[in-house]
Amino acid sequence: DNPHLTPQRQPEDIDAALRPKTLDEFIGQEAARGNLRVFIEAAKGRSEALDHVLFFGPPGLGKTTLAQIIARELGVGFRATSGPVIAKSGDLAALLTNLEEGDVLFIDEIHRLNPVVEEVLYPAMEDRALDLIIGEGPSARSVRIDLPAFTLIGATTRQGLLTTPLRDRFGIPVRLNFYTTEELELVVHRAARLLDLDIAPDGATEVARRARGTPRIAGRLLRRVRDFANVAGTRLVDRTIADESLVRLEVDSIGLDAMDRRYLHMIADVYKGGPVGVETLAAGLSEPRDTVEEVIEPYLIQLGLIARTARGRTLNDRGWKHLGLTPPAGKEV
Ligand code: ADP
Repeated sequence: DNPHLTPQRQPEDIDAALRPKTLDEFIGQEAARGNLRVFIEAAKGRSEALDHVLFFGPPGLGKTTLAQIIARELGVGFRATSGPVIAKSGDLAALLTNLEEGDVLFIDEIHRLNPVVEEVLYPAMEDRALDLIIGEGPSARSVRIDLPAFTLIGATTRQGLLTTPLRDRFGIPVRLNFYTTEELELVVHRAARLLDLDIAPDGATEVARRARGTPRIAGRLLRRVRDFANVAGTRLVDRTIADESLVRLEVDSIGLDAMDRRYLHMIADVYKGGPVGVETLAAGLSEPRDTVEEVIEPYLIQLGLIARTARGRTLNDRGWKHLGLTPPAGKEV
C-alpha cells in the first residue's frame, strides 16, 4: 500500500508544516471550534486550567492540531505522548510531576493505555493528585503528591474504546467529523499556499473531493500531485493534472484507495454482499482489526457504501453500484 495515502500518522511528521496555529486558522469543525473558543476564554478569564478535553474521530481530522492550538490559545506549555508509549505508572508519574501550572498534557491513542497506568490517571485528573506506593510488603505505605493544575487532552479514534471511568473524567468531549468537500477545498488552497504551489480552483476541488473527508489525506495528495506537476513541467495544477495524478495514485473518483476497494471487493466477491464478521474481513485483508474498524470502515459507512449490522458487515446498494456489480438475487438493499 502507498503509505502517503493512509490517514495514519507517519514516523516523521510531514504534516507539521501544514498545521494551523490558531483556532481562526483551523478550517471546519465549526461547532467544536465555537465551543472550544468559549471554554478557553472562560478558563482564561478565571485564571484556571481548562477542563480535560477528549477528542474522538477518525485519524487525520485534526485532533493533535487542535490540542496544540488549545495550548497556544491558553498560553501554556504543551507536552505530548501517546497511550502505548507509557509503559509503567512511573513513566506517567514522571510526566505529570514535570508539568507546570496550567500546562496541557496531550495523550494520543489514550484508549491504548495500560490499565495499571490508567488507574494513576484517575486521581490525577479528578483531584490533581498522585497516589504513590512507597516501599514493599508490610512497610509499604501510600503517599499523596499534589500536582499542578493541568489540562489533559486525550485523543482516540472512537469514544467507545475508552473505559467508562476514564471517559467520565473528561469534562469536554469533542467529536470530530469528516470534512465537507468545500472545507477541504479551503484546506487544499491553504496547503498549496504554504507549499508555494499554484493551483486552479477546479484542481483544488478535484483533490478535495477525493481526500476521503480527511485534511491529512488532502495534504498528502496535494504533495504527490505537486510531484507529478513538477515532473511534467506544469506550473499550474488544474483539474486535468490533478485527476491524472490521482488516477496514477489509484485514488478513484470518490476518493477510495486500493485498500478501500479490496475491502469492498472482499465483501462483494467472497461473501456475496455479507453479512460478514469484521474479524473475517480483517484476516482476509491481512490488516489488524483496529485498522479495518477505525480507518477503513468509517468513511465507507459515511458514504453509505456499507453498513455495520449486528451480524456483520453488508454491502449496500450504493456499494454494489460503485463496484459496477449487480447484487445477487435477493440481496438488493
Ligand atoms: P489527528 O491527530 O486527528 O490524526 P492531525 O491533527 O495530526 O490529525 O492532523 C493531520 C494534518 O491535517 C495536520 O498536520 C494538518 O496539516 C492537517 N489538518 C487537520 N485539520 C486541519 C484543519 N482543520 N485545517 C487545516 N489543516 C488541517
